[in-house]
Amino acid sequence: MVTTRCLALQWSETVTSAAVLSLHTSPLALAGVGDSGGMNVYVRELAGALGRAGVTVRVFTRRWSDDLPERVVVEPGVEVVHVAAGPVGLAKEALPPIVSEFADGVADELLRASADVLHANYWLSAVAGHELKHRLDLPLVSTFHTLARVKADSGDPEPAARVQAETMVVGCCDAICASNTVEATQLVDLYGADPSRIEIAPPGVDRAYFSPGDHLGARRALGLDDHPIVLFVGRIQPLKGPTVAVEALAAVKNPDARLIVVGGPSGSEGVGEWNRVQQAVRQHQLADRVSFVDAQPHHILSTYYRAADVVVVPSRSESFGLVALEAAACGRPVVGAAVGGLRTLVEHGHTGYLVDSRDPLEFATRLDDLIDHPARAEAMGRAAANLAAGFSWSTTAGRLRRMYSDLAARTLVRC
Ligand code: UDP
Repeated sequence: MVTTRCLALQWSETVTSAAVLSLHTSPLALAGVGDSGGMNVYVRELAGALGRAGVTVRVFTRRWSDDLPERVVVEPGVEVVHVAAGPVGLAKEALPPIVSEFADGVADELLRASADVLHANYWLSAVAGHELKHRLDLPLVSTFHTLARVKADSGDPEPAARVQAETMVVGCCDAICASNTVEATQLVDLYGADPSRIEIAPPGVDRAYFSPGDHLGARRALGLDDHPIVLFVGRIQPLKGPTVAVEALAAVKNPDARLIVVGGPSGSEGVGEWNRVQQAVRQHQLADRVSFVDAQPHHILSTYYRAADVVVVPSRSESFGLVALEAAACGRPVVGAAVGGLRTLVEHGHTGYLVDSRDPLEFATRLDDLIDHPARAEAMGRAAANLAAGFSWSTTAGRLRRMYSDLAARTLVRC
């Protein structure tokens, strides 16, 4: 009898459906170039993990090309729905005026087949989610991924309208997902978020792909010789600091060391940053020591991480830093900037080094340390893999599923 009641309870908790909003970029897009990066991986992996945890997920994204089907079943219980809103080729900066049209399209879908909760990603989706919350009387969860005021503090100002929109939505969200305590503190200090509505749910890493493996085999697979390899993975834009990575290589003492840069230009400053990276390569005469690889399908990156001796993440700000986690999961030490989520993903002196400066020489000193002491790098890589073992998408999904269920039973926040 007791067993039956428990089963009944579990069943009622799992009968949940979520409408995940990902307005400006699709979880089906290749990450690492254009507007596609960590958020795409987050939405795709989380939707899959939620689906496997019994939550039916529909991800709503803007129709960005004419040849897209209306809906794509990604795996059982997980569907991507392309919502027509504005002309297909709009840049991210041009999207604010079409947010309401997007919300209308999602509302039509949800009136046909409802959801128990709205989960918005990034501020544009959060604004759409806020409209939908009031129209459909549904709880709204937001994951912001980046925050305008945090970006402004690191030298990347965003339009005032974004700050206002984020402030408005933070005040009316039923729950906000933060990746870590650093982001939670930023939400409270910079936006006045109610701490009781913040849920810390760190992203995960898929260890079926990202796990320690054969270093030499990975090098052979990529056609690399035995030079020490520093790896940079990510979108090419000033925020990610690829120029710092090149200038750091220029200052590394070992002349055999090489840098591999995987990713492509992103956002309105992407091409400018790409040009600065190329200029730095020319200026330091590094053409035969820096190689560029187009953005790679996510799982293929594990081979690059395993082939590397050290992974460098010189970002100006980082709400989480999936690249640092994936590198750690592959047993590689990380030299990262001491910013945002990287401070929670790199244990200084244990799994890599945190650099509290934008100075390439400081990054070079840490890279030298790991290149010149392979046994130390190996030990740090092992510690990094242990640290990464604490992160999984199924844990993230489990937390969110519980939170969705709690919200369904709560009175909605009003503004
Ligand atoms: N990525 C990828 N292919 C690439 C480059 C990057 O799949 O060629 C993925 C990478 O594995 C990571 C994400 O893009 O999961 C970048 O996330 P991160 O949090 O490091 O940065 P963001 O893009 O969110 O600023």
